Amino acid sequence: MDAYRVAEGTGLDLRTIDPGEKTAFADLKKSSSLNVLASYRRRLADLQRLLWADGSRSLLFVLQAMDTGGKDGTIRKVFTGVNPQGVDVRGFGVPSERELDHDYLWRVHTQAPPRGRIGIFNRSHYEDVLVVRVLDLVPEEQWRRRYGHIRDFERMLIDEGTVIVKVMLHISKEEQARRLRSRLDDPAKSYKFNPSDLDSRSRWDEYMAAYEEAISETTTVDAPWFVVPSDRKWYRNLVISKILIETLEGLDLTYPEPEHDLSAIVIE
Ligand code: AMP
Ligand code: MG
Repeated sequence: MDAYRVAEGTGLDLRTIDPGEKTAFADLKKSSSLNVLASYRRRLADLQRLLWADGSRSLLFVLQAMDTGGKDGTIRKVFTGVNPQGVDVRGFGVPSERELDHDYLWRVHTQAPPRGRIGIFNRSHYEDVLVVRVLDLVPEEQWRRRYGHIRDFERMLIDEGTVIVKVMLHISKEEQARRLRSRLDDPAKSYKFNPSDLDSRSRWDEYMAAYEEAISETTTVDAPWFVVPSDRKWYRNLVISKILIETLEGLDLTYPEPEHDLSAIVIE
């Protein structure tokens, strides 16, 4: 999945990444992708058990996207099958008055996953350099300093045992239009329609510029960003599952030795 990993120090131009491509699973179609997804789900479930048993590390999975980008669907589809007791999903919306009285990382740090667990951030501290920048909620000199804070904050989490994977779901503006329309038409989705989604759509280019800079400023070898083509939901699910599997496999997790001598134990 290295093709989607954003390299450090090179800058990012989102226009060079086609949100509709599917090269990593070129032979697959949506219908045949389900078998692959099922096997990835089993593998992810096994790795989560191991993460829990090992107990020394945690996984932080940060998900960012434009509205309708598929954050909720990704969480539902990729983590189906993983023991719900081992996963914490945290959403970050407009900060409360109390949260605004603190620094912007305060509400985030308390939600970082403890050892043995997977923490999913549905939006994150990156909103503080994305929406905050585009809507001019704090002066530029203030949000610009945050890239450095975020690198240091994530470095600290890594040094203390967390592995970090950050994903931007990359959709095209046309695909967003289709999804917003279907949101309007479907009673099971229309309740999610928020006219403010149209505001962010009207500032699409500003958001893309904010994403490009935030991602290039904060992608590191140990806390990499992945930009995942996400116009095809099935493809997005496979790519993200694979990224998470490869990340957990890279941790050398082990089941602990039994604490007691089991050789003499007889179960009557
Ligand atoms: P949703 O994910 O649909 O529940 O929407 C959450 C909303 O909260 C989005 O419009 C985000 O842009 C907004 N949001 C999240 N974090 C912040 C932040 N730090 N400052 C301002 N708005 C935020
Ligand atoms: Mg929304």
